[in-house]
Amino acid sequence: MEKDGTDARHSEEQERRAYWTEQMDGAYEFMLAVQAHPCAECGEPLVSLPEAARAAGVKVRFSPLPHVRGLPRLFFLRKGLVEDFLAAAEDMNRRGWVMRVEDGYRTREMQKYNALRPEVFPMVLAKARWELGGAEPPLDLVRRRLAALIAMNPRVGTHCSGSAIDISVLARDGSAEVDRGAPYLEVSEKTPMASPFVSEQAAGNRAEITALMASHGFRTYPYEFWHYNKGDAYDEHLAGTGAPARYGPVDLDPATGAVRAIENATEPLNSEEEIGALIRQGMRQE
Ligand SMILES: [Zn+2]
Repeated sequence: MEKDGTDARHSEEQERRAYWTEQMDGAYEFMLAVQAHPCAECGEPLVSLPEAARAAGVKVRFSPLPHVRGLPRLFFLRKGLVEDFLAAAEDMNRRGWVMRVEDGYRTREMQKYNALRPEVFPMVLAKARWELGGAEPPLDLVRRRLAALIAMNPRVGTHCSGSAIDISVLARDGSAEVDRGAPYLEVSEKTPMASPFVSEQAAGNRAEITALMASHGFRTYPYEFWHYNKGDAYDEHLAGTGAPARYGPVDLDPATGAVRAIENATEPLNSEEEIGALIRQGMRQE
């Protein structure tokens, strides 16, 4: 019996590992396709979501946690998406839910340090080691896994386009988070939207939330159960329209909401040296 149990656990772990590798390779391919996708920046300004929700009387929560390096979170979306955002949030209210926006627009600085922060990088490194059965992962593997999970240049990080939000969903009475198998910022086999490693109930909730968001035109990133976006390269690529994205990576003036297209948006935000140093540091901490 003991032996059978061990074998079963072993084969389940192999299944999880194979799934993770396949999903992360898929996510990396996706990022390359997004990077190549044409963009015709429309120049639309960004609008504050907390202000818009307050003005519309829609109940929405916003993450109270600071962003990387203690920076304030920038809960902004492009002006043309705000009506749809409010309608989705209102639908959730009607359903007995409240949307909690975990993250919105990210500056280049936020996107860069997002990959390196202590809550993220060690998890990504640990998963890469796990994939290899504990060996020190080569730089290229860590780079690709980071690219799949945290966009490595402004072009593929559609948070830099002001067209993406990361969300959780709470019960309207504030009692609990709607179960999606894990809370926001999980780095595991549970992270892809269609993961078979979450309960039936969690999968059902994911599907319901995604359908609700889709009814307002927001498309999910298939590799993270919390990310929704619209009008950007993810959206056009997933829709297979071949149309250029109207929202590309931009710098923001938070005082006015005005945007300016980022030039050289495919340049990596993190150098190989930075990633290599973090791998060595992580391995030393063993
Ligand atoms: Zn996201």
